[in-house]
Amino acid sequence: MKQWELQCSRCSARLPFRYQDMKCACGGTLLVDYDLEHVAKTFTKASLQLRYPSMWRYQELLPLQDKASIISLGEGWTPLLRMPTWESKLSLKRLWIKREEQNPTGSFKSRGFSVAVSLLKEAGATKAAVPSNGNAAGALAAYAGRAGIQAFVFIPMDCPSLIVDECPLYGATTVLVDGFIHDAAAIIESGRKEQGWVNVGTLKEPGRVEGKKTMGLELAEQLGWTFPDVIIYPTGGGSGIIGMWKSFLELKKLGFIEGDMPRFVCVQESGCQPIVDGLGQPMAVTPTHDSDASLAPEPHKIIPNPTGMRVPNPPDLELLLSIVKQSGGTAIAVSKEQIAQATQSLGAEGISSSPEGAATWAAMLVLCDTGWLRSTDSVVLFNTSHAMKYAKLGASAAIPIIKTYEEFMVYRNI
Ligand SMILES: *Cc1c(COP(=O)(O)O)cnc(C)c1O
Repeated sequence: MKQWELQCSRCSARLPFRYQDMKCACGGTLLVDYDLEHVAKTFTKASLQLRYPSMWRYQELLPLQDKASIISLGEGWTPLLRMPTWESKLSLKRLWIKREEQNPTGSFKSRGFSVAVSLLKEAGATKAAVPSNGNAAGALAAYAGRAGIQAFVFIPMDCPSLIVDECPLYGATTVLVDGFIHDAAAIIESGRKEQGWVNVGTLKEPGRVEGKKTMGLELAEQLGWTFPDVIIYPTGGGSGIIGMWKSFLELKKLGFIEGDMPRFVCVQESGCQPIVDGLGQPMAVTPTHDSDASLAPEPHKIIPNPTGMRVPNPPDLELLLSIVKQSGGTAIAVSKEQIAQATQSLGAEGISSSPEGAATWAAMLVLCDTGWLRSTDSVVLFNTSHAMKYAKLGASAAIPIIKTYEEFMVYRNI
């Protein structure tokens, strides 16, 4: 076997490595498979202790031939923050938040695009396109800018304007699409050949799953080479779930960790919940004790926020569902209101969270309430981006505007 090949996650067919076109003839997704005996020669717990705190410390488990092709902006090795007060409030054994908003492009999309763009660089590609609800577009734009690759980003028109406006700043050709992310993807497919674009959409190329895989490697290392019991992750296309699952399998095969894999919880927003629906065990939106079912919101009539979770057709739903089931996990949809409340709770702890990150907090509260989370569980939430990116320009109308100290005192007294 070469240092790495591709293997179909559905039919197990093996193919030589390539940097685009990840769909197997059977319809499954091709994933990178490493020669772990080769990896083990240099990838040891001791050697890792001496390495730089970046996701590129896991280089043997990333499919780059040459170090010189690495395009880095300082991604990865984000803090894992413990929440001791809430551990006792919620009776959880341990609670951590993985602060992915601290990545260079303000979201964990940095990880995937650092690897994806490095692969493009190594392959000599010059143009890349992505359909995105925002953060993937920003990350492609930034990393492509650094690599000298032309980026073309296609974003649904209702996505957060600050995220959209950042893309041309990095030099990307940026357009808004009147539709959802799959409509944006269809435009790219129509023009791909004529324009010479490599489509770096979710699961279209190998780098993004491999890059997100480093979240799993990092988590395990930060926890002293152990697994948490539960990972709560805001899921859209699902490359993070696939990546982390893969990383844990690799760590087990390398003999770094033994024991049970974490249970994966996919969090979505009510109204766009293909994973929840696909699992066939939709959980209540709120732990309601209301017996009148007609009062429950009808999920498909709700228009969800334009966030990274809003992916109505994940590219490989079957793979996602099989991971969630194998892990003993679940999927849960939370409402806009629950997300807004969770943003406040995290804010009160000093943590700026995107709606996606806040959704994991909301889901955790529900899972504590229903008893799905137990007092023996150690739990990790992923705060995948920060609040600022989703802010509207101009402060909220609820914040007073004053000119003098006297006016301030008037407001103070109201
Ligand atoms: C893309 C994105 C997600 C969803 O991640 P997937 O791994 O694609 O499912 C969640 N949160 C944020 C902030 C995102 O940008």
